[in-house]
Amino acid sequence: MKILVILTGGTISMVRNPENGALRPADLDTFKAFVPELFAADMSIDMLPFDPLIDSSDVNPRDWAKMATTVYNNYDKYDGFVILHGTDTMSYSASAMSFMLQNLNKAVVFTGSQLPVGVLRSDAKENLLTAIEIAAARDSDGNCIVPEVSLCFEGKLFRANRTTKKNAEHFEAFESFNYPALAKAGVHIHYHHGLIHYPEGKSLPLILHTKTDRRVAVLKLFPGITEPLVKAILSSDIKGVILETYGSGNAPSCEWFYLLLADAVKRGVVIVNKTQCDTGSVEMGRYEVSMNLLRAGVLSGYDITTEALLAKMMILLGEYPNDIEKVKLKLQNSIVGEMTVSDEHRRYF
Ligand code: ASP
Repeated sequence: MKILVILTGGTISMVRNPENGALRPADLDTFKAFVPELFAADMSIDMLPFDPLIDSSDVNPRDWAKMATTVYNNYDKYDGFVILHGTDTMSYSASAMSFMLQNLNKAVVFTGSQLPVGVLRSDAKENLLTAIEIAAARDSDGNCIVPEVSLCFEGKLFRANRTTKKNAEHFEAFESFNYPALAKAGVHIHYHHGLIHYPEGKSLPLILHTKTDRRVAVLKLFPGITEPLVKAILSSDIKGVILETYGSGNAPSCEWFYLLLADAVKRGVVIVNKTQCDTGSVEMGRYEVSMNLLRAGVLSGYDITTEALLAKMMILLGEYPNDIEKVKLKLQNSIVGEMTVSDEHRRYF
C-alpha cells in the first residue's frame, strides 16, 4: 500500500521556534522526527511538501489547482492521498478538490491540527495517522472504502464539501451540519457505507478541472443593509453572488432590493440563495418574502455550505465561461453529494 502525504502548510506543519516562541514551518526531517510512527507502519508513505508551506489564510484558487494537479499527476503511483492543510480554510480547499477531481476512485483525505506537531498535547499525530489509515482502507475485495474527498478531524470523517470550521479553540474543530459523518474512529474505525459516495463507473478515467473564475462575491444580509452597498456589489464586474439570507432563505421585502437582484440576473450574474443557518435548507416560496427572490431569478442553494458553494461557483464559472445556463443547471443539482435537493424543496420551481 502506497500513500502520498502532501504537506501544504498550516499549524500541523509548524514547529515552535525555541528562541522567540513563534511558529514557523517545520522542515521535512523535523516533521518525521515528531511522527516516527509514519515510517514504522506496514505501508509505504511518501511526503511531498509544498515550497513554501503556506498558512491556509493565504490559500487561493491557484493553490487549489496545485493540490488537485499534484493528486492527478501522482494518481497511478499511489493507492491513496492525505493532504495536510491549515484548518482556517481547509473546508474551502477540500470542497474545491471534490469538484476539481472528477471520477475519483481513490481516497483523498484532508486533515490538519489545532496545535502544532511536536507540542505535548498536539492533535496532529492522531489526526494524521487516522487520515492515513482511512486513505489506505480497503474492503475484502480490495476496493477503496472511501473513494471521495473527505476531511478527517478528531476521530470523525466527513464528506469534505459538507464541512465547516466551527471552533477555533476545541480539538473538535469541524462539523458537517447537514450530512452525517462517513466514519467514526474509536478503537476501530466504523465506516457508514450507505453514506459514502461511490463512483458510478469504476473504470472512468480521472478528469482534472482547474480553471476558476474569481469574480464571485458573498453578500451577507443584515438588518439595515443599504441600497448603495448592494448596488456596489451587484454592479461591479461580478459573475456570481452567494446571497446569505435568513432562515429558510428569506430576505427583506423592499422593492429596490429585488429590482437590483433582477437587474443583475438579467445581465447574466448567477445569484444563489444560501441560508445563514448552519443546519437546514433554503425553501424559496415558503414565505412571501422569499417568493420575491424566486421572481428575481435567484437560484436555491438548498442545504449547501458557503464553502462548497463558493468553490463550486468559481470552478463552474471557470469551466463554462460562455454557457451560463449550464452553470445554473449544475448549481441546481448535486455533483458529488455536496447538497440535498429534495422534491419537497423542488416543488417551488
Ligand atoms: N492559521 C492556520 C492555518 O489555517 C491555522 C491552523 O492550521 O489551524 O493555516
